[in-house]
Amino acid sequence: MNPSKTRRTVSLAFSLSLLISTTAPAQNRRLQRTPAQSPQNPTIRNVVREIDARNIEQTIRKLVSFGTRNTNSEQSNPNRGIGAARDWLYAEFVHAAETSGGRMTVEKQSYEQPKAARVPEPITVTNVVATLRGTQPESADRMYVVSGHYDSMCGNPSDAKCDAPGANDDASGTAAVLEMARVMAKYKFDATIVFMAVAGEEQSLLGSTHYAEQAKQKNLNIDAMLTNDIIGNTLGGNGVRDRTTVRVFSEGVPSNETQAEATTRRSVGGENDSASRQLARFIKETGERYVPRLNVMMVYRRDRYGRGGDHIPFLERGYPAVRFTELNENFQHQHQNIRIENGVQYGDLPEFVDFAYIADVARVNAATLAALALAPSRPRNVTMSNRQAYDTELKWDADKEPDIAGYEIVWRDTTAATWTNSQSVGNVTTFTMKGLTKDNYFFGVRAIDKEGNRSFVTYPRPQARTGAGGANPTQQTP
Ligand SMILES: [Zn+2]
Repeated sequence: MNPSKTRRTVSLAFSLSLLISTTAPAQNRRLQRTPAQSPQNPTIRNVVREIDARNIEQTIRKLVSFGTRNTNSEQSNPNRGIGAARDWLYAEFVHAAETSGGRMTVEKQSYEQPKAARVPEPITVTNVVATLRGTQPESADRMYVVSGHYDSMCGNPSDAKCDAPGANDDASGTAAVLEMARVMAKYKFDATIVFMAVAGEEQSLLGSTHYAEQAKQKNLNIDAMLTNDIIGNTLGGNGVRDRTTVRVFSEGVPSNETQAEATTRRSVGGENDSASRQLARFIKETGERYVPRLNVMMVYRRDRYGRGGDHIPFLERGYPAVRFTELNENFQHQHQNIRIENGVQYGDLPEFVDFAYIADVARVNAATLAALALAPSRPRNVTMSNRQAYDTELKWDADKEPDIAGYEIVWRDTTAATWTNSQSVGNVTTFTMKGLTKDNYFFGVRAIDKEGNRSFVTYPRPQARTGAGGANPTQQTP
């Protein structure tokens, strides 16, 4: 089902020629579509190449060897329980940081969790957090966070004693994050990347909620967050084997949307253009460029149907975030006590995990993080004129990075999933797209630096009306 590059290019060119020949006026012939194959950045290519499935396998087997990593389990036994896993991960991240020349620092971020649902007795919840500081002063406070959860559970989330190997849920995501830290520590990026293994996911997202809340209190500039949870199973419980697709879940309507924002969205459209959805589009474009054998399947949903993960506390606090998960899950190997029933092996065991596939998912993550952290900030304060017009007028704030080269306007049909067209407009902060009406297309703006690194896209909000229309940007003209 994965169309070849050629076929994709042809169909894009075909639909574009159709667009130009049948629906757009003659002056649009000079508009260019996005090149099918942008040149690859050598740093990103090297990062992708160095990710090694053997390290991922070793990490998963080591995490499984702690017996259980239930968040309620022992914290001071060096061989069994979540404390042993926490200390081992901390030491591994510290080891990874050795190649960073002091730019990567590792900490245990802990807090005391009182009794709660799934927490029968008060416990300490600890996230292991490795921060690789950005090297460009204008970008170092811009952060990209990638996470997996190192806690696990068997059938009962409060059971601290049962074996809970959690090879796929979520040693797979944790191992991917550790491998990314190991590979990326020695490279320099403009912005900051945070590699994080969180606890308490199975107790309702405790560790990630703590991190996201702390980030909000400190007013941290988290530009994007990726969580990897259940990224290692390639033989679904439905019998389908797929090693070539990963799902990226992104919400359309922001979890923290205000009433006023909802009113604007209804007025101008935008339920398919949240920052998280732009992030998902960026992941698809970047991932498929650097890891062409892995198809990124965007799912227009916050998470799987009625379910959740560690990206949600970030979304609720206004940070763009997505979830990576394998295409076909197998519920016999999630949240199960290890047992054989009617000849069927239950339990989240390493023999059901595909290490090479996890490495590919890690490569898509790493390419995305590297591309984002090398690129300028996405344009801020992007607005679109509200006036009735046949042209489309966009404005934005100038980026502050010294290596900024300029901006690109992107657009697509309102029914298209990804940005299909782009035009470079130079280092300006306003541009009018002649002959393309905002009524018929969605537009966005992205920044590009002198090396060709592109930010993800900012979707404009309507400009505040002035004059006869009043100052209310949500006011509608009949
Ligand atoms: Zn999980």
